[in-house]
Amino acid sequence: MGIDDRFRDDAAIAVDALAGFAAQSAGRAGPVIRQPALGDLACILALDRLIAEGGLTGDRLRAFLADYLAASTRLHHPGYMAHQVAVPQPLSAVAALVDGFCNNAMAIYEMGPAAATVEFAVIAWMLRKIGWRAAPPTNAQAPEAGTAGGVLTHGGSLANLTALLAARGRVAPRAWENGTPDNLVIVASPAAHYSVARAAGLLGLGQKAVRAAPADAAGRLDPDRLAGCLDRLRDDGLVPMAVVANACATALGLYDPLRPIAETCRARGIWLHVDGAHGASALVSQRLRRKLDGIALADSVVWDAHKMLGSATLCAAVLVRDRADLDHAFREEASYLFHDKDQPGIDLIHRTVECTKAAIGLKAFFALAAGGESAVAAMVERQTDLAAAAAARLRAEPGFEVAVEPESNIVCFRLDGPDALQMTLRRRLVDDGAFYVSTAEALGRRWLRLALMNPATGMPDVEALIARLSAIRAEVRAEFP
Ligand SMILES: *Cc1c(COP(=O)(O)O)cnc(C)c1O
Repeated sequence: MGIDDRFRDDAAIAVDALAGFAAQSAGRAGPVIRQPALGDLACILALDRLIAEGGLTGDRLRAFLADYLAASTRLHHPGYMAHQVAVPQPLSAVAALVDGFCNNAMAIYEMGPAAATVEFAVIAWMLRKIGWRAAPPTNAQAPEAGTAGGVLTHGGSLANLTALLAARGRVAPRAWENGTPDNLVIVASPAAHYSVARAAGLLGLGQKAVRAAPADAAGRLDPDRLAGCLDRLRDDGLVPMAVVANACATALGLYDPLRPIAETCRARGIWLHVDGAHGASALVSQRLRRKLDGIALADSVVWDAHKMLGSATLCAAVLVRDRADLDHAFREEASYLFHDKDQPGIDLIHRTVECTKAAIGLKAFFALAAGGESAVAAMVERQTDLAAAAAARLRAEPGFEVAVEPESNIVCFRLDGPDALQMTLRRRLVDDGAFYVSTAEALGRRWLRLALMNPATGMPDVEALIARLSAIRAEVRAEFP
């Protein structure tokens, strides 16, 4: 058998196993989550033996995948309500296969022209959704001034780091050579994702340089008090490097009011970064995009395709209003990669931490192109509407409390009782395996948290969840009176 025959057979085995896994999960057979101990799992999967001896093909591959999938979290299960990772559009998973097989490390154009072209198209589509003008690909190596640009990275965390690096380059252009000045600060909503603080550490500002922006109790940035905050920092001799706004925030799913925030930043020449990792996908919907009103006034935006666009992980975009900011963000030389050359395409390597770069644009592109953008818009709208309906239902249930009116597909709620009760409820739910939810801290308390990612989840699942939680609540009455 040639390599191609073996590949055909093994790929068919894998596709068959995955289709079965999805069908079983959608039918609620098997727990949404099951966590055997790591050591046991390593034995079951015979990992060491397979590494030593090989032979993972055919029937052994089939058996291995059965064990592997049995210990895999089932995103296709309607009880999957925990995290913000997409139930991927199946065609997007096909893109992962295509990319894995071709292995075109496309950060330089010659290593993957098709992949680079797809990435440019996905980026340009996102830029247009924001309301920015993308440089036409024909002159992207020497673009018009003031055109927007971007790059895809492995996840929103790396994307936030990249955007904030570009922001640092604007206020401290010599930081790349000389190190970070010690008076830079980042002003971020207290509800910002932890990757913002991590970026401050990585960029040499230190996490203490992340200052809490004035916000309401739910962590929504307060534009009226932002100006005073920025001016006071400047009076103290500090340099606000960037303001970070959420669209939407991770825990409660709330959108910051971008337009007045952007106007305040503009008036002071301060970089506005919008973390839209989760919520920028609302831009696809005519009905929902007003939640991001004013986003075009930002300097940078992060947008994950593997959350609400249905892309297989990972695919996140760093988008900047002026592409020069991103092109200047990384300034070192590698003579074997970076040299003046005459080529029919564009190198992305100048815009990203990554060197060998996967063709992740193909995953986002396949997710979009499977049903077109109207299908994606319908999905985002459906999940957002489901969250509103779920919140209304939860609020109506005696003994249940909802944190805030949802603005995305994220719902936080709790049952009457202490924080420890919420953690116990979650542990019991997860042990049962019919539902998988997360928790979050917000408004000074611990909440059960639903991220309604699965288009197969409906109100009957919410009803069943309420019933199960009520039953567990009764069972733990002795522990939590
Ligand atoms: C999910 C999320 C991130 C992190 O993105 P990853 O792709 O998980 O690295 C950053 N910011 C916000 C607001 C998020 O919701």
